[in-house]
Amino acid sequence: MEVKEILRKYGFTFKKNLGQNFLTEGSLLRAIVKDAGVESEDIVVEIGTGAGTLTSAISEKAKHVYTFDVDTCLQPVLAETLAGKENVTINFLDVLKISDEKLKEIIGEQPFRVVANIPYYVTTPLIMRFLESDLNCKSLTVMVQKEVADRLIAEPDTENYGAITLAVELRGTARVTRNVARQLFHPAPKVDSAVVHIDIDDNKYEIKDKPFLQKLIRAGFQMRRKTLVNNIGASLGITKDRAKEVLVSLGYSESIRGEALSIEDYIKIAEALHD
Ligand code: SAM
Repeated sequence: MEVKEILRKYGFTFKKNLGQNFLTEGSLLRAIVKDAGVESEDIVVEIGTGAGTLTSAISEKAKHVYTFDVDTCLQPVLAETLAGKENVTINFLDVLKISDEKLKEIIGEQPFRVVANIPYYVTTPLIMRFLESDLNCKSLTVMVQKEVADRLIAEPDTENYGAITLAVELRGTARVTRNVARQLFHPAPKVDSAVVHIDIDDNKYEIKDKPFLQKLIRAGFQMRRKTLVNNIGASLGITKDRAKEVLVSLGYSESIRGEALSIEDYIKIAEALHD
């Protein structure tokens, strides 16, 4: 039976507030699994199970899929669409609300890949949650609104460049693997989407004090029109004179703005401010 028929059979009603726009096209689902780089030894954490179509495609390739959704109305649907898939564990939990410890209890300590097709308002917090945690995450493959994709891969000094661009740069490399037209979802949302794959490489930079660097980056974008010196003073408790002195000693203008700096610049400045 087709997924759409199964949803009808159980009287499933799509909840707009949970971003329930499902993918059903087999070739697209397989392509997303390929974008995610899923191989036979991989443990995958899937966020937003929906009707289980992407889950099913992932389970064809992965060792095990731990999938999470918040909507328990999907239970009878998933019992049918994922019947007999022994390498799938369904969890009705909100991944943004459970602790790292709880997640480790469920999936174990082994490295894992994240694959997520979730409501657009959850994508940024979700990406930040995994990038800023110490969980052993190898990659993130996320369906996002096209505007969010532009932010994830933006260059310094452009409108789209922001704290999230740098959070990605700090841990790895992001690329847009494909654009997905709205008509490919059921029901069709109002916007087009893109799949972004972020490869995480924890040896990319050696950072002495990561929380301090993360604070500095957030401060750098707090008020985009203000200079870095002003933003640092307000949120890191560093005097303007000290901040100016450090910037000038490193060869930057004292009126430089946070949005003009690359991740390497932030790392350099964080270390000098720290010393
Ligand atoms: N992966 C499926 C697909 O591709 O067809 C479903 C995608 S649908 C866009 C998003 C799913 O995320 C919905 O089933 C919704 O119930 C679920 N969801 C919404 N908020 C969530 C959250 N905080 N944690 C986990 N799942 C969530």
